Amino acid sequence: MSLRPSPLAKGTSVMADPSLSLNTTLLRGFRYACWPECGLCCFAEPRVDATERAVLLQIAPETEFVDTSQGSFLRAGSNGGACQFLRNLRCSAHTARPHPCQEFPVHVHLGDRLQASLVLSCPGVALDVLSETTPFSARAAPEGFGDELAAVNRRLVPGVDRRLREAGRRKGRIVRQLDREGRWEEEEEVRDALRREVPLPLPEDFPVEAPPSAEDGLEFLPIFYDGRPGPVGLAEGLGGWEAVELRPSGGVERLLAAIPPPETPPELTPTAERLLVGYLRYYLERDALLASVLPQMLQSSEGTVTAWVAKELRTIGATVVSRALVRAKLSGAPSGPLRVGEIAEGIRATDQDRLDVPTWGDRL
Ligand code: SF4
Ligand code: SF4
Repeated sequence: MSLRPSPLAKGTSVMADPSLSLNTTLLRGFRYACWPECGLCCFAEPRVDATERAVLLQIAPETEFVDTSQGSFLRAGSNGGACQFLRNLRCSAHTARPHPCQEFPVHVHLGDRLQASLVLSCPGVALDVLSETTPFSARAAPEGFGDELAAVNRRLVPGVDRRLREAGRRKGRIVRQLDREGRWEEEEEVRDALRREVPLPLPEDFPVEAPPSAEDGLEFLPIFYDGRPGPVGLAEGLGGWEAVELRPSGGVERLLAAIPPPETPPELTPTAERLLVGYLRYYLERDALLASVLPQMLQSSEGTVTAWVAKELRTIGATVVSRALVRAKLSGAPSGPLRVGEIAEGIRATDQDRLDVPTWGDRL
């Protein structure tokens, strides 16, 4: 998992324009408490702004950064390792940690609006709410996100409106082309159609696309936390998918398992299927889903928005159950239908990667 770049406009005043306020509907009903012994979100190169960089250099003059055209990032340990400030899975620069670390697991997509959702790879976020059928807007207020939301709100300063306008122009170009081809549909209509019957993975969605090769760099691997000293990464291997335990200092500790990719959808218990449906419903409500599908549609001249979004949801579902299967095998679970806890782990092993897919929008 990586904390991908979140362009920064740091400031102290909250936006006065109500249209630029943060939509937190998708946080409703969730509870969160960080697991300090986890450290998963610290296998990352978080973005730093100029002020944060200066503070970090003051407390640790040897701090190393990666400077790119996208901004400045804290350098991680070599070979896909952890952030240089991670010590025994705790942050040694906690009071000076950069903004992505302060905001995680809140993720803000900047598109038609500022929509907050949660990175469900974080094991500190309880997933049971996904199985509820209550609409998100009717759920209880979220619990435990006070500091993270305060950190997000500190960045809602002038400059966000300009970025929204730029994103809107990018979207406009795509929509006009799809409209000319007779393929455009309004997003709420797409959501309405798919909310009624959430598309679950079909046999043709298996096996899902292969995971990245470890040779591409460990930082590209989907990773998850399962209580080992380092996180587990999934890589393409001779046996299909390989699960490798990573060292907190970087590199591979050992190969845990090589698992052939499922060729057909594994069976799920009824409660496991309810959780999967709830997750796909959650994903459907994310603006980032539609914003990632529209650019993909330009690669083809066929298919409506509804058809493309349905296919994307099925692929996400197939990825979740495939990774759930890997985790079930790793934990030595008996064969049989995947259970709710295993689907939860499949969601955790998948969500960050899906959120990292490029969109016509931006990330706060
Ligand atoms: S991934 Fe979540 S639970 Fe783990 S250290 Fe980060 S915020 Fe805490
Ligand atoms: S600065 Fe601290 S919180 Fe942020 S990634 Fe590094 S160790 Fe983790």
